[in-house]
Amino acid sequence: MSNQQSLVVVGSVAIDWVITPEAERSESIGGAATFAAIAASYLSPVNLVGIVGDDFPQRSIEDLRRKRIDTSGLEVVPGGKTFRWKGRYHANMNQRDTLDTQLGVFETFDPKLPPRYADSGYLFLANIQPEVQLRVLEQMKAPRIVGLDTMNLWIDIARPQLEKVISRVGVLMINEEEARQLTGEHNLVKAARGVRKLGPKSVVIKRGEYGALLFHGDDVFSAPALPLEEVVDPTGAGDAFAGGFMGYLARGVEPHGEHLRTAMIYGSVLASYIVGGFSYDELIGLDLERIQSRFALFQRLTDFARADLA
Ligand code: AMP
Repeated sequence: MSNQQSLVVVGSVAIDWVITPEAERSESIGGAATFAAIAASYLSPVNLVGIVGDDFPQRSIEDLRRKRIDTSGLEVVPGGKTFRWKGRYHANMNQRDTLDTQLGVFETFDPKLPPRYADSGYLFLANIQPEVQLRVLEQMKAPRIVGLDTMNLWIDIARPQLEKVISRVGVLMINEEEARQLTGEHNLVKAARGVRKLGPKSVVIKRGEYGALLFHGDDVFSAPALPLEEVVDPTGAGDAFAGGFMGYLARGVEPHGEHLRTAMIYGSVLASYIVGGFSYDELIGLDLERIQSRFALFQRLTDFARADLA
């Protein structure tokens, strides 16, 4: 496989403190890039770009390497403090409040891509400051498909930089509240149209337990989320979705029609493996066989017969 068929993932690599109505875990490994990279690694080679301090556990870096994720773009700053995020989920587990954010080494992050990363054909700009996303994008030679995720914070405090980077990507993947905030449109069809006016050809709107919508050309596709009995910690579901989606595209398929629909289902499959445990506890131990059988479960979940009323 040429290096073209690999995915660069840039974003936060973090230590989280997650509180749910049932349980709590501090020192929980998180970060948008962490979850996206692990999810994508099942489908394509992944090159990670991020930054941590030396408080980040070495064993977690080894977990990433065991997934054959290239971590030479993960900078470890001696004496630095890893980005930390603390959040509390509401009883419905679909909404959460951020209780604390400590930027640490994020504050001065100026990524330098290892030269072989620049040849990758695929780039996923996971959630991080838009200026950092832009600086990574500028170092890529000729990426075939660039996906981007963001969050409410950057819409609030860095909109001009965010709009600049959005104008240069093919696929925007954001959650429904962020799509509304970004465009000022409550209706998601109108919000998707508003996003496309900013530049991206395709828009994926993530809706948590209600699944995700894809808008591409005249096509609209709705992917469900798997109805699960036990939700332990949804942190990272959106990132795992994006990782599955981009990881599938990075296999070299054309980014339109059926292929984008299939990518949506791989996204949903990988996201379904985040919520059953804290951090990446569940996501890390998968193999292609389990992924393919859950893919078949999604097919069954949405399959229905044509009704003949004649
Ligand atoms: P998700 O549940 O998909 O929205 O992603 C949650 C992850 O985003 C957590 O592991 C956090 O570490 C990370 N995160 C939270 N706030 C930020 C931020 N301001 N910038 C980058 N990453 C963040």
